[in-house]
Amino acid sequence: MKIPLIQEIQRYCVNDGPGIRSLVFFKGCHLDCPWCHNPEYKSLGVDLYFYEDKCVRCGECVKVCPENAISPIGHNGEPPLINKKKCKKNLKCVEACKFGAREIISGKYDLEGAIKEALKDRDFYASSGGGVTISGGEPLLFPEFTAIFARRLKDEFIHVAVETSAHCSWKDLKTVVDFVDLFLIDIKCMDSEKHRNFIGVGNELILQNISELSKEHRKVRIRVPVIPGFNDNKENFEMMVEFLSKLEGPVEGVDLLPFHNSAEKKYKQLGIEYKYEGMPFMEADEVKPFATILEKGGIEVTIGGMIGVGK
Ligand code: SF4
Ligand code: SF4
Repeated sequence: MKIPLIQEIQRYCVNDGPGIRSLVFFKGCHLDCPWCHNPEYKSLGVDLYFYEDKCVRCGECVKVCPENAISPIGHNGEPPLINKKKCKKNLKCVEACKFGAREIISGKYDLEGAIKEALKDRDFYASSGGGVTISGGEPLLFPEFTAIFARRLKDEFIHVAVETSAHCSWKDLKTVVDFVDLFLIDIKCMDSEKHRNFIGVGNELILQNISELSKEHRKVRIRVPVIPGFNDNKENFEMMVEFLSKLEGPVEGVDLLPFHNSAEKKYKQLGIEYKYEGMPFMEADEVKPFATILEKGGIEVTIGGMIGVGK
């Protein structure tokens, strides 16, 4: 069984499923969305964070790195940055930094620890119609673990949502399906070629899995990160209405998530390129025309994903 690194459990969330929820992030994803808001959960293994504002430019990390992977402090105070290609992740720089400027993202919780943490807010879940959302990264990279985790929560009468790309085999989905109350699945773009060009894979498998879930009358909400220059055109949403209206069981609704660049800092901390650097936030008004197209197709829509109680 593949076991994910679980670094973070966010409490009191209201945009990723009904009610008040805890979000459990599994580390590792096989897609490569350039706008990803959780770049720290893209890679499967350990990552290093660099907090530039905590760095006093003492140069200790540069000295201890056996791979010469860290750039020297610049004459004008340029920070010591890690060359990811050279870094062997032996973490000597983290040990050497006495100022908390370097942090390991590895995995704080094992299964029992994550369950215990997730159950802390069960009273809030009960009073708000909330629960736990398993997210990432991609939970279905770990189908057996996700099934065990979800089943343990179901045994405690907790509502379980899984946020997945659905770019996986039907067999993997079937492994978890009986323990999941709600699937949150992105349809990033209806044009498969564009999907492939931006993300690295086409959308066929995703659409097929949504159809299969719908045939089984499983609850599915569609998420659409609206990204300038990628999917922010009316043809995309017209095609989406056509696809969704042919499903055997209707989806619960569509959440339009306007582009925002709040993850920009995380990319800097991880030392990876952010293709949307400096791009402004999208206002809710900019996505309203797309909401209208979906609503005319009989689909319930939110802008931002807050769906309230008891769905
Ligand atoms: S983790 Fe990477 S950058 Fe840090 S000391 Fe080791 S090789 Fe060098
Ligand atoms: S050891 Fe820490 S504070 Fe010193 S240069 Fe490296 S990251 Fe900055």
